[in-house]
Amino acid sequence: MSELTLPPVAKSFYTFCKKCDIDRYHKVLAHTSETTAKIECEVCHSRKSFSLPKPGSEARKAKAATVKTAARKSSHTGEYELRNQKQAHSEAVTFNIKLQFKDNQKISHPKFGIGFVQKAHDDKIEVIFADEIKSLVHNRV
Ligand SMILES: [Zn+2]
Repeated sequence: MSELTLPPVAKSFYTFCKKCDIDRYHKVLAHTSETTAKIECEVCHSRKSFSLPKPGSEARKAKAATVKTAARKSSHTGEYELRNQKQAHSEAVTFNIKLQFKDNQKISHPKFGIGFVQKAHDDKIEVIFADEIKSLVHNRV
């Protein structure tokens, strides 16, 4: 799955055009090797060669750096985004200390905003909010 392949000849794909100075559709004219192709900007018709990022060099380095600097933040934000997408249409229950919440429930907190119950315990819930995971008391009679 990590192997990258070139877009097929005659197909267009979106990449940066230096001449237009913006991302443009480029038509693949020919493959010049397994990782390089001749492409043409559909707008200014400038021709250039395109090469796939070499596995194990630039791409890998960039990825490793990203993981190192933003591992915690991105995994948390990623999970929040995922839940937010999955439950985009579910109704958020307004958080109230007297209510009992369940795993995966979507809640709306007056202070922290929309959150998702990651784990529900008898007396408290761990809720994933956009910025952080919070432990809230619930089921308080
Ligand atoms: Zn162009």
